[in-house]
Amino acid sequence: MPSYEDLKKWDFEYFWHPFTQMKEYMERDPVIVERGDGVFLYDVKGNKYIDGISSLWVNIHGHNREELNQAIGEQLSKIAHSTTLGISNVPAILLAKKLVEITPKRLRKVFFSDTGACAMEIGIKVAYHYWQNLGVKGKRKFLSVRNGYHGDTIGAMSVGGIDLFHSIYKPLLFENYLAPSPYCYRCELNANPATCGLLCLEKLDEIAKKHKDELCAIVCESAVQAAGGMIVLPQGYMKGLREIADRYGLLLVLDEVAVGFGRTGRMWGCEHENVEPDIMAIAKGLTGGYLPVAATLVTDEIYNAFLGDYTKTFYHGHTYTGNPLGCACALKNIELFERDKVLEALQSKIEHLTKRLEEFWELKHVGDIRQKGFLVGIELVKDRKTKEPFPYRERTGFKVIYKARERGVLIRPLGDVIVIMPPLVIDLENLDKLIDVIKWSIKEVTER
Ligand code: PLP
Repeated sequence: MPSYEDLKKWDFEYFWHPFTQMKEYMERDPVIVERGDGVFLYDVKGNKYIDGISSLWVNIHGHNREELNQAIGEQLSKIAHSTTLGISNVPAILLAKKLVEITPKRLRKVFFSDTGACAMEIGIKVAYHYWQNLGVKGKRKFLSVRNGYHGDTIGAMSVGGIDLFHSIYKPLLFENYLAPSPYCYRCELNANPATCGLLCLEKLDEIAKKHKDELCAIVCESAVQAAGGMIVLPQGYMKGLREIADRYGLLLVLDEVAVGFGRTGRMWGCEHENVEPDIMAIAKGLTGGYLPVAATLVTDEIYNAFLGDYTKTFYHGHTYTGNPLGCACALKNIELFERDKVLEALQSKIEHLTKRLEEFWELKHVGDIRQKGFLVGIELVKDRKTKEPFPYRERTGFKVIYKARERGVLIRPLGDVIVIMPPLVIDLENLDKLIDVIKWSIKEVTER
């Protein structure tokens, strides 16, 4: 293997990293991962780290998991890839069937792709095209939620609501209605969450009512606005979305890309309120964090609107749609959930995590602690009383994660929100270590 110094040199010279200010990245020695095992990542220097964010919210059963490796190996000995444009393959058929069995009942058809953004892009196009195929031509817009994030393609950004990521592209994006975010810690409506009766949802209802004839669908992340800062949707919000969509004849598109596959303690975020969307996007955890497979699930009613004459066809596809290696891995991932009773085992870990998170209130600069199952966001502020944030340019969140690296923990913040989202299989000992290191890092950075 090339030396660390060579790898570093070529990394800086040739590799443009995602969501990364390269100038800042090149100011320090990069972590160059060589291998993984369980909840640990090992870099080329031999350092060992806990993977505290599941390699960007994807890993479920740990790295280098024998069963997943084997499933991929077995499929590889048959075929790595064949197209699904006009023909089919065994793992994709079996995975489509399995996904229909384990997702909300009304979702009956599966359209495969390869990233969360694609799965959402497809959801948006299907929702629009559905109304066109029904002959309802005026429905061309979407109603989504501020602070929402659905990926970085043009359509997914158009329904996104994070200014930092999206505002520069505004001239390229399609017009979209944005409802207030249910970000109770910093309510943009200045309401009191304890007494407001979901005022943000009322505002969303008003927009839906006013524009129902031009709207295709309501689009929202399920259970948690993840990239927006781990903003947990208040109780009743998802149910409210379903009711509003039904009231005004709109489709409901739920994005389960981040929360799906057990992160919230249930298989799907929408299960927490027994809500069934018309369209649902899944990705990240679908292959246990191994391979890029995503899917958009729809109801029979939607699918049937595309059946018939060739002019009704959904002309969308990606070269690797239904990739056999990825689908074989996804099938094994789901099998492991069932065989190892992963969700049952997770419940006591969630309780433990909840208890441990209480300790973070001891830290002076913790403004808010948000948790939904195994998804956590700790918002750091300059002043807890006034909620004044740290100046953006201080990069407090990044300072904390660099500190955590010194003690063997890899995490990544969302601004000044420190994210904790370990693989679901983490044991209590390593969960404790992860929490201890993060707590220490916040204290070191904000109280010294
Ligand atoms: N939707 C949600 C809720 C996400 O959190 C993400 C990624 O973080 C995406 C969509 C985009 O997924 P991908 O990065 O696979 O395109």
